Amino acid sequence: MSHPASYDSGMVVPPAAPDVEPELQARARDVRRHAHVPYSHFPVGAALRTTSGAVFVGANVENAAYPEGMCAEASAISAMASAGEREISVIVTVCGGDLLGTPCGGCRQKIREFATPDTVIHAADTSGVRATYTMSELLPDGFGPEHLA
Ligand code: ZN
Repeated sequence: MSHPASYDSGMVVPPAAPDVEPELQARARDVRRHAHVPYSHFPVGAALRTTSGAVFVGANVENAAYPEGMCAEASAISAMASAGEREISVIVTVCGGDLLGTPCGGCRQKIREFATPDTVIHAADTSGVRATYTMSELLPDGFGPEHLA
């Protein structure tokens, strides 16, 4: 698979940190096994902990009508919101591949909806966390609920 030079030339994937949020990493790896990815063959798992301490997980769920598919982060957020929870403390995503896998643009906005100023996003693969971000690093100057208040 080729990528635009600006996205892969010189890219260095940071060392894996298996000791960062180990429970969430394990939960994300576990749910990733249930991803429905007959088209991309790119399974992703996500696990988040709310500010109350509850954990929710989700995997990506593709659809033959491609735009109807759902990212792992969106699945986990739907489970969280459906349980009545609204604040994400930390979220871990696990995907494969040789490049650093971070939440897509749409998921950055979905996380932003339920983020606090302290929300942390960890991008991991099956070996461990590869990168850690604040919400404002992942989505600078993002639009959020306070804009409509
Ligand atoms: Zn996404």
